[in-house]
Amino acid sequence: MKEIYQIELVKAGNLTAEENEIVSRYWLVKDGLFCEKPSEIAKNRPLSTLEVSKIAKKHGHLLITNKCSCCQTERKLKATSQALTKRYLISSWDCDDCAKEKKVAKKERLELIEIQLKEDRANKFQKAIAEKSWTKFSKEELHALLQMLQAPTAKHLIAGLIKLNDKSYWKILHKANIHGMVDLVKKDGFYITDYTYPTNITEMIQEYLESISLNNPPNEFSSPVHPEMGFRLVKNKNSRSAEDALYFNDVTFDRDILIKANTLYSYSVWPRENGDAWISITPSDNILKSKNITRPNGPQHVGDVIKKWKY
Ligand SMILES: [Zn+2]
Repeated sequence: MKEIYQIELVKAGNLTAEENEIVSRYWLVKDGLFCEKPSEIAKNRPLSTLEVSKIAKKHGHLLITNKCSCCQTERKLKATSQALTKRYLISSWDCDDCAKEKKVAKKERLELIEIQLKEDRANKFQKAIAEKSWTKFSKEELHALLQMLQAPTAKHLIAGLIKLNDKSYWKILHKANIHGMVDLVKKDGFYITDYTYPTNITEMIQEYLESISLNNPPNEFSSPVHPEMGFRLVKNKNSRSAEDALYFNDVTFDRDILIKANTLYSYSVWPRENGDAWISITPSDNILKSKNITRPNGPQHVGDVIKKWKY
C-alpha cells in the first residue's frame, strides 16, 4: 500500500556517535511501525530502556506530513513520542479541527438522543397517568409493584427479584414497563440497568388501592388472579384439654373470596414453626390444571410475600 504520509527525522546537532545511533534507531519507522523497541536498543549498553527513550526524545523527533482523512488538508505534525507518531500515522487520522468537530457532533447527537428518550419517557408516563394504568393490575400485582418501587436503586431491585426466584414478579415489572408505570433502562435490549417511574406513582397506586377496598365491589375481577386462599393457623397456647381448639386466632382477607357451591375444593394443612400451621384451600380443578403436582409450601398469602421484600 502506498503511504500517503512522509516522515522526516529531525536530529539535534553535535551528537556523540552513541547518541546519534540511539536517535536514529529509536525513530526508525517502516510501513507505519517502529522497527525497534527501546529495550532492544538498550541491550548491550550501560543504559536502561527509560534512559534510551529519554536520550532519543531529547535529541530527536519526527516531522510527519499527513492528510486529514476528513478534510483532506495536508498537515505537518511534530511527533515527540512513539505514541504520538502511531496516532499521526493511522490512515483515519483526523486533524485537530476535524477531530474537535466530530467530537462536538457526537456530543450533540448523544444529547439529542437523550432529549428524545426523556420526551418519550415523559409521554409514556403522561399516558399511563391519563389512562390510570394501575386499573389494569390486580391488587396483588400493585402491592408487589409498590414493594419494588421502594428499592433504593435498580441494583437493589434486581437483587430482590433474583432472591424471590419467582417469574411472576418479573412479569409484573415488565407489565408495569409496558403500561408506563415504570420505565426500564435496558442494556443490549435485555439487561435492566436502571429504572424510573412517574413522580407520585406510589401515591396514585395507594389511593387507588384504598378506593377499591372502600367500594369493595363484589366479583370485581371476572377471573380472580388467585382463586385459591390460605392463611396461618395460630396454635392455641391456652389449650388445656383435648376438647379445646387446636388453633385459635382472627383472620382478615384483602379481597372477597368466592366459594362456589357444588364445586370441589382441595384443602391441605402444612406445619409451620412454633406449632402453627398453614391451611390452603384451592379449587380442585386448579390442581389438576397444574399437572396434579401438589406444591410443598401451599399458596402464599400476598402479605407473606411482601414481608420477603427487604432492601
Ligand atoms: Zn481535517
